[in-house]
Amino acid sequence: MRLRNVKGSREQIAENEYVLKNAENNKGKWKEFFQDDKPIHLEIGMGKGRFLMEMAKLHPDIHYIGIEKYSSVLVRALEKMEEEPLPNIHFLRMDAEYITQYFDKGEVAEIYLNFSDPWPKDRHAKRRLTSRQFLARYDEILADDGKVIFKTDNRGLFDFSLEEVKEAGWILDYATFDLHHSEYLDGNVMTEYEEKFVNLGNPICKMVIHRAK
Ligand code: SAM
Repeated sequence: MRLRNVKGSREQIAENEYVLKNAENNKGKWKEFFQDDKPIHLEIGMGKGRFLMEMAKLHPDIHYIGIEKYSSVLVRALEKMEEEPLPNIHFLRMDAEYITQYFDKGEVAEIYLNFSDPWPKDRHAKRRLTSRQFLARYDEILADDGKVIFKTDNRGLFDFSLEEVKEAGWILDYATFDLHHSEYLDGNVMTEYEEKFVNLGNPICKMVIHRAK
């Protein structure tokens, strides 16, 4: 019997044209890299990438970079991209903890955090993507009028995030505890997790925040 050579996810990622390689070298030079002035939006923890791809189709004048820690998850997004290639999407396989090594002050216009891991134990609070430690990292890379947009079905994580926003001196544009029955639903693009939780009847929380001037 002939066995098919199934490539490992790391190998697939290394060869894929949409995955950014040695991206630390682009720090401070992203405009040069893209050879244009279009804004850069990140999704941190993008999972299988459905949200990112939908957004990229809706907004061709924005560069979307999807950040994902695990190769095994990122390959699922790459498979989707093969079916429907989009010129304004790239991927970075990395832990967001190191994000300031990749982007310089003002290089990022918006950061999306969708259904981020809750890290329920108190001693892991600093790993939550909305912790004050992460907000400080976003502060280092966002444009002056940059925003962080966060959705979750996890009320505990959302309440924690509201506290961290206050503690870090950021400002709420708005927050809702039930996005799908709110005035903010217009134009909402669902993520894979969002669809699952909405179908279960769970309310979705959303906040949009920016730094104090
Ligand atoms: N955003 C997607 C959605 O809404 O359908 C996926 C949500 S999933 C619960 C969280 C994703 O974030 C996982 O794919 C996980 O591997 C990734 N992730 C968690 N912590 C991360 C980090 N520090 N850096 C990069 N990715 C991370």
